[in-house]
Amino acid sequence: MNALFRMPFIASLLAITGCFLLPKAGIANEVTVYSHRHYEADDALYAKFTKQTGIKVNIVKASADALLERIKAEGKNSPADVLITADAGRLVRARNAGVLQPATSTKLAAQVPQNMRDADNHWHAFTVRARVLIYSKARVKPSELVSYEDLAKARWKGRIVARSSTNIYNQSLLASIVAEAGMEKATVWATAVRANMARSPEGSDRDQIRAVAAGIADVAIANTYYVGLLANSPNPKDREVASKIGVFFPNQNGRGAHINISGGGVVKSAPNRNNAIRLLEFLTGPEAQGGFPETTYEYPLDISGTQSELLKSWGEFKADKLSLQTLGEKNADAVKIFARARWK
Ligand code: FE
Repeated sequence: MNALFRMPFIASLLAITGCFLLPKAGIANEVTVYSHRHYEADDALYAKFTKQTGIKVNIVKASADALLERIKAEGKNSPADVLITADAGRLVRARNAGVLQPATSTKLAAQVPQNMRDADNHWHAFTVRARVLIYSKARVKPSELVSYEDLAKARWKGRIVARSSTNIYNQSLLASIVAEAGMEKATVWATAVRANMARSPEGSDRDQIRAVAAGIADVAIANTYYVGLLANSPNPKDREVASKIGVFFPNQNGRGAHINISGGGVVKSAPNRNNAIRLLEFLTGPEAQGGFPETTYEYPLDISGTQSELLKSWGEFKADKLSLQTLGEKNADAVKIFARARWK
């Protein structure tokens, strides 16, 4: 009886205090993420974030281009708070499309190296990958490998595989060569590497690694985490592929291996801007950073700080220090060069 009497009082008390606990707009405490990443490990991270902060994470997954188009089409009414995608080239594209806003935060500034974020904080990286040379352990000694530039030499004739130039990873690699050597030298390089290929560009990064294991070529250009995905694949054929290849970090006597990132930016019309920044702080923070190498085989922002046995087994390496927004700025040049080189 007593308890029943108290109920309306408690209910109204909750209603009053509730007003202060809820965000100003009176909407739910949530953050909506448009993500191009398709990792189960990411979902587990979002769940951890929710547990720690009480902020519910809504996830929309699609291809990078589809997400960008969707945000543009939704305009001011877009529910998106954070856009997550791989490759700095794509993040620069999103910034140039005007769909991102600066996220200024002392935590983000401290956690993300300067070359791994947009100069005006429109996006921040949270994982790193190197685009390396994958070689056949049977037919190539690592001492024969040098640099991306070296792949243009005649001794690699008919021995290289790489995916199509429509792929942003190759565009970004070439953009880094344009930044280093200029348009003309980059054109000579792309033309020569194309001429050295064992076959016309086809398939994914993983398919290039498979081609090396199968003896179609001796060297492939691919991202590091694909080696981790193959080595830990439930498919024994993939694991066999991984056992036949080695990872070589090029340009160690020069600018360092080409790296790229996965990253996120706060959407311009974000209904939950503060929650969006908190999510980026979480993804770039110690807890999430420790997890990526074990689950997605990507490097943390502090590349040499990884504890992953697999990543450490590939060896320590020097990464190119180029500001990654340059990859986006030189993207159009890279696309032009690939067309001239007939690298389809
Ligand atoms: Fe990828």
